[in-house]
Amino acid sequence: MSEFDKRKSIEQILSKEPLPFINPEVYETQSGLTYLRSPGIAVISIPYVDLRGTQGFLDGFPRELEFYKYLNDPTPLPPAETLSKFAGQLCYLSHGPNRTLNKDARTYLKNIKESGHGSVLEHSNISILLWGVSRSLTHELVRHRAGFGFSQVSQRYVGGRTLRFVERPEYAGDEFLHGLFEDRIESTQREYEYITDYLLEKQKQSLGGILSAEHKTDLRKKVRQAARSLLPNETEAPVVVTGNVRAWRHFLNVRGGEHAEVEIRKAAFETYRCLNLVAPMLFEDFEVKQLSDSTNGLSTPYPKV
Ligand SMILES: Cc1cc2nc3c(=O)[nH]c(=O)nc-3n(C[C@H](O)[C@H](O)[C@H](O)COP(=O)(O)OP(=O)(O)OC[C@H]3O[C@@H](n4cnc5c(N)ncnc54)[C@H](O)[C@@H]3O)c2cc1C
Repeated sequence: MSEFDKRKSIEQILSKEPLPFINPEVYETQSGLTYLRSPGIAVISIPYVDLRGTQGFLDGFPRELEFYKYLNDPTPLPPAETLSKFAGQLCYLSHGPNRTLNKDARTYLKNIKESGHGSVLEHSNISILLWGVSRSLTHELVRHRAGFGFSQVSQRYVGGRTLRFVERPEYAGDEFLHGLFEDRIESTQREYEYITDYLLEKQKQSLGGILSAEHKTDLRKKVRQAARSLLPNETEAPVVVTGNVRAWRHFLNVRGGEHAEVEIRKAAFETYRCLNLVAPMLFEDFEVKQLSDSTNGLSTPYPKV
């Protein structure tokens, strides 16, 4: 069992341990240009849930219904599960003694998924930082609209020494293609720097026309936004992604599936491993299947939730 898989228990999720992360290796070409071969993921935010304020709401119902005892439940749950269960139970005012207690939350949440009551999964947002992924991956990622928010590195502002690249598995496993990759990214970087310097010089001499700008950051932006046109799809594009649990589930299903492109499928699988640690009862229905290209594919019996 790896260090990663050991941090699975609910007690640990509720403790102050760091949220899950996966650190990929960073490689260097001979001239010191950096690139990655697999995605890095850090879960950076999960919901903070405190139901104590609902006591007044519960106290307001007739005493014999015993809603006032709802919060006396000795079994702790991870926050996303707590929130979804509370939201689901509110729908039927299931706060009395016959309600499902936290010890049976797993069955309760399975029923939610089976019955397609997906809206109760929309309350919990989980944010990740995703890096070691290419611009072509993020182009596919940002097609997901419902329930997602994205903040991606701007190629109009950022370049130079921070430029990194992502090598596809097909190249990493082949000496010839790997050599071509290293040569290509080095020459890309050289050309990028050359064009940036040239445009900056032109700007300084006020020969720019469309390069002219009033503020210093605008000047740099105008140069970089032109120079970025030569950057390839394999340029790294770090992105912060926030999604609610329902949106993440849809993402895992379509981008972790066997028809998905291999880089995004790998990222979806690693994302699944992390999400399954912070909200196991909401993601554990995903089945992992080894595909013919030896990557892991994801599927769930409840794709529409
Ligand atoms: C294997 C694969 C191949 C693909 N190939 C291509 C391609 O060749 N070309 C291309 O352009 N795209 C392609 N895509 C992208 C795909 O078409 C979607 O844009 C992308 O997967 C986002 O998913 P989604 O549409 O389910 O949207 P999400 O934003 O993730 O929405 C989730 C769900 O919410 C609902 N929803 C969201 N927005 C609306 C809306 N406006 N109206 C009604 N319901 C809504 C839908 O039920 C949707 O499934 C591909 C995706 C995959 C997985």
